[in-house]
Amino acid sequence: MNETSPIPPRFLTKRELKSLLGALIREYRAYGPVDSDGVPAFSALTSSAELRFDLSPTHLSAREFLLPSKETLLKFDLTESGPGVVITPVVEAQPQVIIGLKPCDINGMALMDSVMAAGVRDVNYLKRRAATIIVGVECLPDETCFCASLGTERAESGFDLFVHLLPTRGVLVRIGTEAGAKILKKYAWGRKAVKAEIVKLEEHYELKLGAFKARLNALPEELPGVLAASDESPVWQSIGSICTGCGACNHVCPTCYCFDVSDELSSDLKSAERLRVWDGCTLDDFTLVAGGHNFRKSRAERLRHRFNRKFNYGSERFDSLFCVGCGRCSRTCLVDINITEVTNAIIKEVKESRG
Ligand code: SF4
Ligand code: SF4
Repeated sequence: MNETSPIPPRFLTKRELKSLLGALIREYRAYGPVDSDGVPAFSALTSSAELRFDLSPTHLSAREFLLPSKETLLKFDLTESGPGVVITPVVEAQPQVIIGLKPCDINGMALMDSVMAAGVRDVNYLKRRAATIIVGVECLPDETCFCASLGTERAESGFDLFVHLLPTRGVLVRIGTEAGAKILKKYAWGRKAVKAEIVKLEEHYELKLGAFKARLNALPEELPGVLAASDESPVWQSIGSICTGCGACNHVCPTCYCFDVSDELSSDLKSAERLRVWDGCTLDDFTLVAGGHNFRKSRAERLRHRFNRKFNYGSERFDSLFCVGCGRCSRTCLVDINITEVTNAIIKEVKESRG
């Protein structure tokens, strides 16, 4: 992940891009977006022909590849007699490449990197992240994406290589790290992009900015204050009354990182494992503590908390919002709780109350 001083973008023909992606898929454990029975999904790749860069954001984010939904952290050998149990930490970090990450997801991954490196460093995540090559791909929004409202529609860092599909002939590849430069030099160095090709990048961004249908009616820097002033809003009761507490919005989100830790004993009592599994703040038992007390009893309280986690609570510690506008939670919610609509209702209420 060592960032490199900017190297001008390289132009690759489509054939060169294919050869680059094919080499990465052969040499690494590789994942990328595919059409999985009509649903955009990240999948293990065997060929570059499986890749689809033209789809909406994948149903699940790429979080699974860095923070698996279920992971063994420790193994306990209970067969030793004597004073102690033998405890072995488990850290698995195979070299891997994630191809086709969109700017929102690259920005989301950067947030996860900050969280996992803050305080007690999360060795499992960080080793896996260091062993991961990221190849980003530029995109256009669907009707639910709203990254432009949060300033996450571009990726300026957080990738090794970033591919811009040009309307004609080939692609431009931006280089983000030394590892990215080495890979490109090894498999498909192409040629230096000319000015007219680089101009196409800016033209694409203009086209992209004009294509958003979903938008927030406040600036990113206004959102923490808006959410902080929304505690008594009837909007929370309204969406809490229809939320099923399924946790899908947490599950699909690229920036949700809460997990639970538990120990599992083998049936012969000779070994045990310490596991961590994803958790979610919209689940009924997320705040259930010893003695049966639940300090966020209602779904309204839990959704208010989730929205504050995305637009308010992280702003001081990490100097960032924790939503990147991918729209996955809105696409996934079975009762149509839509993050832009809910947030705009809150923005409207708070702005009206301030006169
Ligand atoms: S996906 Fe929808 S119904 Fe499920 S917990 Fe989230 S807001 Fe509630
Ligand atoms: S809160 Fe929703 S829109 Fe924001 S990053 Fe998470 S899934 Fe995407």
